[in-house]
Amino acid sequence: MKMSADRRNLELVTDTPPYLVCEGRNIPIEVKRSPRAVRIKLRIDPRRGVVLLLPKRASLKAGMIFLRQEIDWIASNIKRIPETVPFRDGVMLPLLGRPHRITHVPEQRGFVWAEDGHIYVAGAAEHLPRRMKDWTRKLAKTEISVWAADYAGKIDARYSGITLRDQVTRWGSCSSTGRLNFSWRLLLMPEEVMRYIVAHEVAHLRHMNHSAAFWALVDELHPRVEHAKKWLKSNGADLHKYGVE
Ligand SMILES: [Zn+2]
Repeated sequence: MKMSADRRNLELVTDTPPYLVCEGRNIPIEVKRSPRAVRIKLRIDPRRGVVLLLPKRASLKAGMIFLRQEIDWIASNIKRIPETVPFRDGVMLPLLGRPHRITHVPEQRGFVWAEDGHIYVAGAAEHLPRRMKDWTRKLAKTEISVWAADYAGKIDARYSGITLRDQVTRWGSCSSTGRLNFSWRLLLMPEEVMRYIVAHEVAHLRHMNHSAAFWALVDELHPRVEHAKKWLKSNGADLHKYGVE
């Protein structure tokens, strides 16, 4: 069954599973059941698409009716869902903000290395996604660690370690035990933006809040905070499309 919403070329297809068609793109709708939810809810997840949260007793049909009512809201927010760009031969990937082409070199020895705008990946094609994943995480950790050590040294702060994650909701965090967490996707940002996020989390080692004193310290460590924030606002969500199968 198809329910059309002509406005803004958005079409809701109520198959199992349901999905949206927006200018030729299929956007999945993830239907989740929550025993705690009291109302039907809708949100946009930059990686999973549209997430429809149903209370325990709500029918899927009621969910579809709700989606149709909210179609304008979805249409204006759908641009936050980037297309996915899995790690494949020929794909472009920004590395510290500079475009690099993933280039499969099956005949070569070695593993993965970046050179002149290419990321060369040796070995069998079926291992390419995993090799790219391991390599990007490792490189992200190396890059981030350099700046974390530098900034922490500047303010004479200590952290207990660095963990890489892949969260949609935050680029970094600092735990009360002094552990720094970062998304590996910082590697895809221009270096200056990556450095801002590292400076931000390191400054939390001193101030576990966003007080004026905290921001003064971030400013001291990283002079282009506003520029970095602006960049993240307009480009951050787009980074979630890379390396997603
Ligand atoms: Zn913060």
